[in-house]
Amino acid sequence: MNMEQRPPIPPEIKREVRKRCGFGCVICGMPLYEYEHMFEWAEVKRHVASEITLLCRQHHGEKTNGLLPKENVIEANNTPFNLKTGVSKSHLLHYSGKNVQLALANSIFQFKDLPENAFFAPLVVDGLAVVGFRVEDGKLLLQFIAFNEFNVPVLEIVDNELIYRTEQWDIEWVGQKLTVREGHGKILLQLVFEPPHTIRIAKGRILFNGIELLIGADYLFCSNNSGFFSGISTTNCSVGLAIGDPVPNVGAGMVFSGISRYGFDRKAARKFLRKCQNEARLTRPWIMDIRGR
Ligand SMILES: [Zn+2]
Repeated sequence: MNMEQRPPIPPEIKREVRKRCGFGCVICGMPLYEYEHMFEWAEVKRHVASEITLLCRQHHGEKTNGLLPKENVIEANNTPFNLKTGVSKSHLLHYSGKNVQLALANSIFQFKDLPENAFFAPLVVDGLAVVGFRVEDGKLLLQFIAFNEFNVPVLEIVDNELIYRTEQWDIEWVGQKLTVREGHGKILLQLVFEPPHTIRIAKGRILFNGIELLIGADYLFCSNNSGFFSGISTTNCSVGLAIGDPVPNVGAGMVFSGISRYGFDRKAARKFLRKCQNEARLTRPWIMDIRGR
């Protein structure tokens, strides 16, 4: 018997497969899946994107056990479930309890003992809760929305149910980490789900109505007004960080209003960001430097 090693599937081939399959199981659309060679590895001995498909654990198991015929998989591969609707099948995230938090890079916005029917919006842009938590009938419900540059929603969590649009360049969900990419090396968003109480935006760009909030490893940067901040935290403020208008009429931890939109100089802003990062490294572990333009 030939025991030669099967090499891993190269990342670019995996991405091609994900995109072609609508970032979900081709049979049921589930956004958590495995890579399945449609033809026996022993026969083909190669990784070719068009010969690999996505199956969730259940359908993969059925295929392996001979309960799901190969022909059905090939047929589903030609008409993947998620591509019929343009959105992924919704997937339930297991958030619960009353103590919740949003981690934005190294900044933390938290609420302890969130009362029934109260709404906690750790991040608000132009009056829209980008991230929100509420408790209803004793159940913790998370909501989230992310947009692209064209103000089109890319990914949404509605009452703990996650869905995303399938026209993205890449969406990769591995373990707790979900990454949306706009191109090679261009991360739009990296979310880390840490149920029962934490959602983390590890890196990326929060975009809405011409506002851009960059999330780096250890800083937040509002490109429109070159607001650089790091390591901030709020506890039990109904709104954590609010950018844009209208200004929330409830207790907000930090507010940046009167933000200029499409007219700002992105190149100058990026240059200022690098300067802030250098200063932050040279001085204190965290700095706050808000400069209007
Ligand atoms: Zn499936």
